[in-house]
Amino acid sequence: MDFSYSDKVERLRAEIGEFVARGIAPSMATWERDVAAGNAHPQIVEDLKRAARDAGLWNLFLPALRDDEPGTALTNLEYAPLAEIMGRVIWASEVFNCSAPDTGNMEILHLFATGEQRERWLSPLLRGEIRSCFAMSEPDVASSDATNIRTAIRRDGDHYVINGRKWFISGAAHPLCRFAIVMGVTDPDGEPHRQQSMVIVPIDAPGVQVVRNIPVMHHLTPEGHCEIVFRDVRVPRANLIHEEGAGFAIAQARLGPGRIHHCMRSIGQSELALELMCQRASERKSFGRYLHQHANVGDWIAQSRIEIDQARLLVLKAAWIIDRHGAKAASKEIAMIKALVPSVQTRVCDRAMQVFGAMGLSPDTPLASLWTWGRVLRIADGPDEVHLRTIARKEIDAARQRHVETLRESR
Ligand SMILES: Cc1cc2nc3c(=O)[nH]c(=O)nc-3n(C[C@H](O)[C@H](O)[C@H](O)COP(=O)(O)OP(=O)(O)OC[C@H]3O[C@@H](n4cnc5c(N)ncnc54)[C@H](O)[C@@H]3O)c2cc1C
Repeated sequence: MDFSYSDKVERLRAEIGEFVARGIAPSMATWERDVAAGNAHPQIVEDLKRAARDAGLWNLFLPALRDDEPGTALTNLEYAPLAEIMGRVIWASEVFNCSAPDTGNMEILHLFATGEQRERWLSPLLRGEIRSCFAMSEPDVASSDATNIRTAIRRDGDHYVINGRKWFISGAAHPLCRFAIVMGVTDPDGEPHRQQSMVIVPIDAPGVQVVRNIPVMHHLTPEGHCEIVFRDVRVPRANLIHEEGAGFAIAQARLGPGRIHHCMRSIGQSELALELMCQRASERKSFGRYLHQHANVGDWIAQSRIEIDQARLLVLKAAWIIDRHGAKAASKEIAMIKALVPSVQTRVCDRAMQVFGAMGLSPDTPLASLWTWGRVLRIADGPDEVHLRTIARKEIDAARQRHVETLRESR
């Protein structure tokens, strides 16, 4: 495996770095002010989106991007270091049309959309004109197990009728959000992994009610993590994605690349936290010495560097396997990075906050906000424990297989 950056990637890293430094970083105060004033979609984001698209820094996350679609197609391995740079500012990936949950939805639609769905929903998403959300989790069931999902999607002539309650649906409060991909049950008597289907539901369809934007650890994000009720919502049968019973399989396909993108951005956030930790430890003194000269602080810096580099290598390995053999073949590595990277991120941010003292807990550094996001990722897109379970099962399967082969050879 060769993880060195090609000339093309080096060029794109320089361009994205420059764009973030010259375009996004100077706009952070404006963005913060607008969002604090209740504007969930500051104009500055649209201005920057236009500039990013003109510069070709657009839809970089989608290896299958077609020539007639806007943007630059990259492999996962090529995209990883770019997502790392974007991750340093919490809203930057939207500027490059690379933000969740749209990226996962674009991937699904890219794979399965009919001509009509492509025209109405995928094309405007790829152009960055609209946004979307993905509605799977429900308050009434353990949603880390997708077979538990209960929202009903009942066929009625040429329509589906949807009834259910979803929550923590990211992006549903974004002013540009136009549709949700909703997972629900079309065949309650079917085999557990074939009961669910996915349908496209316009967010303004009669019966869709965004009940509330749920604060996460007392933090209210402008685009929202929303509770949504679907009450007798009717959509045409043409809004079904792929086929009835494919919901579980599509959810698995969707979450693979989505998880790796989150991890790539988290590595960038960990790097930022380490940079800040080093700066602070080099300029502030207590008890006659710089903070980094206290042995424990030096250890925190060293441990952070080791953990970040380990995590990055594992993320790149997962990206390499996806590129070569597809997301399914990388399922163990994807579970490994999802179980690992958010923990590394929160640990590094936690050490950095400690080095900053009281300031580390304030909004005067991005650390508290980065830590909160890292903590979220230990649950969102599947809790750590579920990923550990996946890894353990695969290890046991492999051990059994080895045992069988050894027995066969010894006969
Ligand atoms: C900020 C945020 C944004 C989100 N965005 C979205 C979104 O856009 N769309 C969407 O559909 N969902 C979203 N979610 C929901 C998220 O995907 C679910 O919360 C997650 O899958 C866990 O489901 P749950 O909350 O029902 O926890 P449960 O399934 O009830 O699990 C609770 C706990 O039980 C333990 N547990 C569960 N299974 C096992 C196991 N096999 N072994 C050991 N322990 C286990 C774990 O500790 C787990 O944390 C978001 C969540 C958050 C916090």
